[in-house]
Amino acid sequence: MEIKIFPNGIYGAITYLVYDKKTKEGALIDCTCDIDKIENFVKCENINLKYLLITHGHLDHVYCVSEFKEKFPTTQVLIHKDDMILIEQIPMQCSMMELEEIKIPCVDGLLGENSHNLTIGEKEIKIIHTNGHSKGGVCYLIDNVLFSGDTLFKDSIGRCDLFGGSMKEIEKSIKEKLFTLDENIIVYPGHGDDTTIGYEKKYNPYFGSNY
Ligand SMILES: [Zn+2]
Ligand SMILES: [Zn+2]
Repeated sequence: MEIKIFPNGIYGAITYLVYDKKTKEGALIDCTCDIDKIENFVKCENINLKYLLITHGHLDHVYCVSEFKEKFPTTQVLIHKDDMILIEQIPMQCSMMELEEIKIPCVDGLLGENSHNLTIGEKEIKIIHTNGHSKGGVCYLIDNVLFSGDTLFKDSIGRCDLFGGSMKEIEKSIKEKLFTLDENIIVYPGHGDDTTIGYEKKYNPYFGSNY
């Protein structure tokens, strides 16, 4: 499985493109920047982009979804049902962040845990609902790679003081749903450097046993 990183998003948010070299099926994780670069790359590599998987509905992760959908109309845009409210609040999020107002993006499907059977090539995409940063925040596990959105960062966790956030919930999500995964799983967060489940279990200042 190949991963291409587009790191220049709003507030440093990262867009990831994951694809299977053999079948050329792929998915975009969040969509915050560099639409032209993404389009060029997809065309060059001849990738069939099946999904745009949104980790959560904060503006820095969805700012370019509308623009993306115009270029890739057949790609399914998917988000957890509990964050649809944030998509509806995009105009308000724009004014709060003092950004130019964008259209509310079209969403093709709403996710619940285990509600969809999504695949890229032969790999299944597992949806892990990790509320706490937002109500409908999810992580996507594909093979041995976890896209953790704003739930888990290298040496940190997502903030909980925004709409729908809860420190109790994010701690529970991370402890019960992420730290029970294989320690060798590589974590690609919505901001910052990649890490592993094992490293965070040891060193994350919010939980780490060796911190
Ligand atoms: Zn966020
Ligand atoms: Zn973010």
